[in-house]
Amino acid sequence: MSELQPARGTHDLIGEEMRRFHQVASIARDIAAVYGFDEWITPIFEDTRVFARTLGETSDVVTKEMYTFEDRGGDSVTLRPEGTAGVCRALVTNGLTQSLPQKVFYAGPMFRYERPQKGRYRQFHQIGTELIGPAEPLADAEVVACGWAILQALGVASDIVLELNTLGDKDSRDAYRAALVGYFTDHRERLSKDSLMRLERNPLRILDSKDEGDRRIVAGAPTIEPYLTDAARGFWDKLRAHLAAFGVPFVENPRIVRGLDYYGHTAFEFVTAKLGAQGTVMAGGRYDGLVAEMGGPATPAVGWAAGIERLAMLLDAAPPAPAPVAVIPIGDAAEAKAVEILQALRAGGVRAEMAYRGNLKRRMERANKAGARAAVIVGADDLAAGHAQVKDLGTGAQSAVPFADIVSKLR
Ligand code: ATP
Ligand code: MG
Repeated sequence: MSELQPARGTHDLIGEEMRRFHQVASIARDIAAVYGFDEWITPIFEDTRVFARTLGETSDVVTKEMYTFEDRGGDSVTLRPEGTAGVCRALVTNGLTQSLPQKVFYAGPMFRYERPQKGRYRQFHQIGTELIGPAEPLADAEVVACGWAILQALGVASDIVLELNTLGDKDSRDAYRAALVGYFTDHRERLSKDSLMRLERNPLRILDSKDEGDRRIVAGAPTIEPYLTDAARGFWDKLRAHLAAFGVPFVENPRIVRGLDYYGHTAFEFVTAKLGAQGTVMAGGRYDGLVAEMGGPATPAVGWAAGIERLAMLLDAAPPAPAPVAVIPIGDAAEAKAVEILQALRAGGVRAEMAYRGNLKRRMERANKAGARAAVIVGADDLAAGHAQVKDLGTGAQSAVPFADIVSKLR
């Protein structure tokens, strides 16, 4: 067999990359908890209908990107391409549609059959929040504020701009859609093949096209603003006022639409110039139709998802590798004591390691290589005197420390 490689578009997370990844997920989890979100874990694969029905039959994800297969029992299952559909399915199947609001945080792997490139993978990972229940624009603002707080806590907010748009209510969108169809029909001979299809099924999607030619046409397309109903305009005004109250800066971008169907009112993306074409790090909006599509009652909801890998790339520096304490016995007699010290350190919450073999010099070399911050050396003389030599490997300072005081000294 030729040498095995990870499947195209997948990657291992090891060392510095793992520490960056963990930093993003754990800070996001902590901030989301402070904002009142509880973590859910839903299955990584679901009945294909969970996604096919709800993400919109014309979305790129459904038409081109899903990992769908028949399992051994002949059922069609799909590796989840995103988190929201599974959360809404779980809300319904766990009978929580009458226990609202639900504030959900999730983190985990997602799968899309895409052309891999920097910041775009076939298995990637997302963090996300969903606020299910409230129809008020205050909920949209809170969800966005939570996302912004996470970006701030990660230290990446200064590289990121929040681009905000409204998709209005159904009446606004119907009127706007008609205007877009008129405009794009006038330019249809210059539209890409994909966008010609979108023109038939979901013309708003053309606004999101990544095709260069499409983008030139999109630049002249009408915006939704003049088509907003009074109610939709009221929602939009309130959202912007609430965001100001939360202290979240934003710019308006009338081209922001969501890649998936069933979005209305709020649509937003947090974007950076630092990741090239993969500049969207966090994206979301209001999806009042999705829970009903999943078989539940009509239920308003708003949320976002962010790519952990993209955020990890933006971190200024990787969190440092943890620095252990190395425990080094000299001679067989000291070994039992060294194990005792090792376990006492660990019980006290200190990361500690013991090299299995070699003389003092070899073991010290290994301790340095492992990035140890201190060494606890136990020789025969120390054993008799009831202490160990504690050496700070940063400064080189060494002193004899009674066995009973070692943990408190190194904690
Ligand atoms: P893009 O326009 O980059 O394809 P998208 O609109 O498909 O993004 P969403 O479905 O909104 O993305 O997912 C939310 C976030 O998840 C994105 O903003 C991005 O950070 C991340 N993401 C999406 N697809 C991938 C991928 N294939 N690899 C890595 N991260 C991804
Ligand atoms: Mg995509």
